[in-house]
Amino acid sequence: MDSRQIGRDQAGDAAVDRSFDHANAGGVMAPVHPGVLGQDDQNVGIVGEEGPTQLLGWRRNGDAEHARILVGIFANIILRFIIHDIYVAYIPGRLMNTTTNAIHSTSGSAAAASPSRIPITIAVGDGIGPEIAAATRLVLAAAAAPLEFHEVTVGERAYLGGVPSGIPDDAWQAIRTTGVLLKGPITTPQGGGYKSVNVTLRKVLGLFANVRPCASHACVPRSRPGIDLVVVRENEEDLYAGIEHRQTPETYQCLKLVTRSGCERIVRYAFAYALANGRRRVTCMTKDNIMKLTDGLFHRVFDQVAAEHPGIVADHQIIDIGAARVATRPEHYDVIVTMNLYGDILSDIAAEVAGSVGMGGSANIGARAAMFEAVHGSAPDLAGKGVANPSGMLQSAVQMLVHLGLPHPAECIHNAWLRTLEDGVLTADLTSSGAVSTSAFAEAVAARLGQLPQTRAPVAYGASLRIALPDIPPLPAEVREQVGIDIFLHHVGQPHDLATSLLGVVGAGFDMTMITNRGVKVWPDGHPETICTDHWRCRFMSTGMVAVPFAQLLALIGRLDAAGFDVIKTEGLFYFAGKPGYSAGQGA
Ligand code: ATP
Repeated sequence: MDSRQIGRDQAGDAAVDRSFDHANAGGVMAPVHPGVLGQDDQNVGIVGEEGPTQLLGWRRNGDAEHARILVGIFANIILRFIIHDIYVAYIPGRLMNTTTNAIHSTSGSAAAASPSRIPITIAVGDGIGPEIAAATRLVLAAAAAPLEFHEVTVGERAYLGGVPSGIPDDAWQAIRTTGVLLKGPITTPQGGGYKSVNVTLRKVLGLFANVRPCASHACVPRSRPGIDLVVVRENEEDLYAGIEHRQTPETYQCLKLVTRSGCERIVRYAFAYALANGRRRVTCMTKDNIMKLTDGLFHRVFDQVAAEHPGIVADHQIIDIGAARVATRPEHYDVIVTMNLYGDILSDIAAEVAGSVGMGGSANIGARAAMFEAVHGSAPDLAGKGVANPSGMLQSAVQMLVHLGLPHPAECIHNAWLRTLEDGVLTADLTSSGAVSTSAFAEAVAARLGQLPQTRAPVAYGASLRIALPDIPPLPAEVREQVGIDIFLHHVGQPHDLATSLLGVVGAGFDMTMITNRGVKVWPDGHPETICTDHWRCRFMSTGMVAVPFAQLLALIGRLDAAGFDVIKTEGLFYFAGKPGYSAGQGA
């Protein structure tokens, strides 16, 4: 059969021909995608020719119509869709091909535009990165995903080539131009003060939301059943600010920075994600019983945003018990929104409980760019052996396709991947016998493109999945007054002796109210059992708790310095609109 002879009177012939040329010339054989999506303002026409078609019906999906057509039951069929950016499908027997074209149709007359490929940046990364990236590209190519790859080098080779950030200028340029990066895992060399490429990319590009879906797989022996959760992790703040100092011979610190807008942005994104994906529950996890200001802010913002979404069940759990329950009862969770460090740990736990950390993909979403990567790291212990599971990167590529507005190849790859696992094709992290190599796994997925999973519902992505990013209004101005100062000292000795010496130099206008060691109050009324280190916080409040000029604070620090105290840092004690913006001492 010459496919060119079929349906030439229909719109979009040039685009169809290109697709058929490719298929008939023995090009990459990819499956037809069973799903077709049309926007409200577009006409969708479906023509089935030669052989039976089975239209499973139209499904309302947000504001779009979604037609699903069962693939594989008919012998020869051409489906053509008069719609913008639609797949053209052709199945003579098992031969299938897809392409994306802009086919414009007006009042029955149509002009076909050239097939357009979407430019993306790819960095294969370090360790197992090149192997899993090659596997991912093999599947993307087999699915004829309309992508144009711009390859850049970031990570270990860039560091060792003298780029301290690990991200050379040409990589920045490519990422900015394409707005999308598909990235393999990166090794950050130990020592030498190298900063993590992952964290730099997320923060510099404003990729505030890290979305990490996780689901069980009945066919994977170690996979706990019933898991279908998504961790929405805040991606820019928290301890990942990476601001660390050694302050005394004994003591090191890492600053935990949390902003109101950062909390609101991620929490709003989590609710928007839940709505867009038909999820019913959002659980917030923090440690606000200990960190009342930072984690407390996250929890408070969560409660406020949750109140705006009465249709979604919202609850809060302390992170330690929450993480324990994700390990033991993961099926109880739907969407989890949490802070940066907790989200990192939690998503590894969830991925392991679902089968392997090698299975999880993630999307890093920002207003101007997005990055897609596996949840796991570069696993140097497996590098070069051809045994790594490429699923994490493949799943991140699926998320990328959805983000790019290509739900059809995303669905197609995802369903083929599920089918591959169902068929018992497993890498060594998932089975102790009969494991396949990284490349064999990818080939198995490619060979199943167009097939659907048999033991669970196929995945269906809709156009509504693109989530509008929250617009966070600036905070109203608040009156801020400094009423005191915490002065941190390096000192070796006993709390009572330190207090006595300090009281001698405080001077008029200030009261020393407290000394703590590692946060625990040791003066006044300390406890003899408390182990003290060389790092002390001494709190001075202005007498009468009135606003105090900065010059007076400097004079106080100067008096302490002149008296021989070793001042290592200070923190202002502020009132915001009449409310204290600092914590009390533990045991105070
Ligand atoms: P990072 O901090 O960068 O996330 P990490 O120290 O947590 O890295 P990973 O590189 O994620 O460590 O790997 C931890 C272990 O998990 C590896 O040693 C490896 O045994 C296993 N692992 C990770 N990824 C895969 C994979 N794709 N396939 C199979 N096993 C993996």
